Amino acid sequence: MNEIKIFSPATVANVSCGFDVLGFCLDTVGDEMVIRKTDKKGVFVTKAEGFNLPLETELNVAGVSALAMYNALKPDCGFEIEIYKNIKPGSGIGSSAASAVGSVFGMNQLLGNPCNKTQLTAFAIKGEALASKCEHADNLAPALFGGFTLVKSISPLEILQIPTPNNLYATIIHPQIEIKTVEARAILPKQVPLEDAITQWSNFGSLIHGLHTNDYQLIKRALHDVIIEPHRSQLIPYFKEVKQTALQHGALGCGISGSGPSVFSLTEGLEQAKNVEAAIKKVYSKTNIEFDVFVSKINTEGVKIIG
Ligand code: ADP
Repeated sequence: MNEIKIFSPATVANVSCGFDVLGFCLDTVGDEMVIRKTDKKGVFVTKAEGFNLPLETELNVAGVSALAMYNALKPDCGFEIEIYKNIKPGSGIGSSAASAVGSVFGMNQLLGNPCNKTQLTAFAIKGEALASKCEHADNLAPALFGGFTLVKSISPLEILQIPTPNNLYATIIHPQIEIKTVEARAILPKQVPLEDAITQWSNFGSLIHGLHTNDYQLIKRALHDVIIEPHRSQLIPYFKEVKQTALQHGALGCGISGSGPSVFSLTEGLEQAKNVEAAIKKVYSKTNIEFDVFVSKINTEGVKIIG
């Protein structure tokens, strides 16, 4: 096999109370990529369609993660990477992570799978760091493993796969505004009151337990973020209205996807997800902000071969 076509999914990081460690994988939106073995040694990003992204290997997230893997494995061939990007960069649903994961997943397949998914995550972290200026894996892990993932630690890298209840759906709304990740980080407090920390870890533990036991009502009671959301939500116009509307129309919870501007809601069942979609659409339709909205089942497979 000399060439492979893959689907690399969008992901939601943080998931309210799981800031920087929890994430889940989507299945209706994602990038397609073609990875090809070449006789010429090296890593070459030959196409990046959809958005204006750099083709220089060292400036493209897919190239940087591929290079990290290439330099570690030293294969006796080279690789070409074509990116067909559907996930808008900076939308908060893991655009850079999809690219970082796609190149290393594809190369691994073409090399006969020498690396496990945790090792691939370690290479992808190098690419993701190009976009976000720090090493984190909360979008990478769900894109690679699928479902819900918990990044227990970055060094040493330890990723836990958390079970996904069968009937869990996400509704994502993406207002077309720009939030710089750096700005979204800078707005966060350096210290947290003990009382808030207690609430947060109680919610986080409960969310993980709810996911393990298919307890949708516990998931609902746990999907609260008292530490990050009060600050970051100020950067997202109409966040309060969207959240209130989503909850009124059956969402188990609603929060900021990654550092925004996308906002996710989780629901039990497709019908509820569609109700939430219709209701939050109305909120943004009354504004002059352009937006996309979509519903997705939680994707338990992650990045996959499509050709
Ligand atoms: P997201 O959370 O949607 O991934 P980020 O702000 O973390 O958005 O990353 C997007 C940044 O990374 C942009 O500045 C973009 O130009 C840069 N970038 C470089 N290569 C890629 C790529 N292959 N895919 C997406 N973004 C890339």
